[in-house]
Amino acid sequence: MTTNSEKAPVYVYRGEELARYGFGEGHPFGHDRHEAFHHELIRSDLGAAIHYASPRRASVDELALFHSPDYINFVSKKSAEGCGFLDGGDTPAFPGIFEAASDVAGTTLAAVDAVMSGEAQRAFIPIAGLHHAGRGHAAGFCVFNDCGIAVEYLRQKHGLTRVAYVDIDAHHGDGVFYGFEDDPDLIFADIHEDGRFLYPGTGAASETGRGRAVGTKLNIPLPPGAGDVEFDGVWPKVEAYIEEMKPEFIILQCGADSLEGDPITHLRFTENAHARAARELSRLANRLCGGRLIGTGGGGYNRHNLARAWTRVVEAFAESR
Ligand SMILES: [Zn+2]
Repeated sequence: MTTNSEKAPVYVYRGEELARYGFGEGHPFGHDRHEAFHHELIRSDLGAAIHYASPRRASVDELALFHSPDYINFVSKKSAEGCGFLDGGDTPAFPGIFEAASDVAGTTLAAVDAVMSGEAQRAFIPIAGLHHAGRGHAAGFCVFNDCGIAVEYLRQKHGLTRVAYVDIDAHHGDGVFYGFEDDPDLIFADIHEDGRFLYPGTGAASETGRGRAVGTKLNIPLPPGAGDVEFDGVWPKVEAYIEEMKPEFIILQCGADSLEGDPITHLRFTENAHARAARELSRLANRLCGGRLIGTGGGGYNRHNLARAWTRVVEAFAESR
């Protein structure tokens, strides 16, 4: 038996490699997001409850657990060229974007390993949670889908089957949803702004999976302007669903662009929504799957909002160990 003081820490990933994933001055996904978060996290003074861990790069074989070889080659080529876009115009191709995106993906895998080994009791990776990237394409500022790669990695490297993905970013996690749409063992719950009003336009409540996976995915669109009252109204559905589906590992994508004041979305949550999601998923993880839960930062383009929301997630992870 371990006592509270002996519990493994929450791993929080920090390093220039993560900050490099961004699209420069004037782009909502700028390089300063990493520092904005860490500056705020230091102020929360969590002491030995958190451990700062370093990024690592994903190998091409690891990227290929989720992405097609053609797409990986395409990103590599565009990265060497260093100009133009990886998609229709949201995701610029800067020199070195292949390596930067591989660093984000690898760091999420490092977090998976740390939690699976028991070195970490939960982990948080800012800048990760690139949920729009599909198996064969970039989209919405997302090059490699670290969450999708992590699901496949948990299966192939760690022998798990049932992984839960919970997403409270304002945007629908379409890259994860369609990447596993016909896979009944990927447990998917996503609260987002209604796709009729916001990119990427998907995630209707009627989208519950395809083929033998019909009924295994939970999409909960909310109207523009929805706040904590609406979040609190639907959150128990997510909890009940996760409980029923009995995951072996939980990934939370806690995009902060669902907070009021984000420049590109229209939801009005406060950081209490993110704290609640992290707290309740920690409890569920403790009960269902040995506490195995990681958080990825996801979107969030108001620096104050992302700093506070992500810090509250880390605090909840630490307090619920
Ligand atoms: Zn988003």
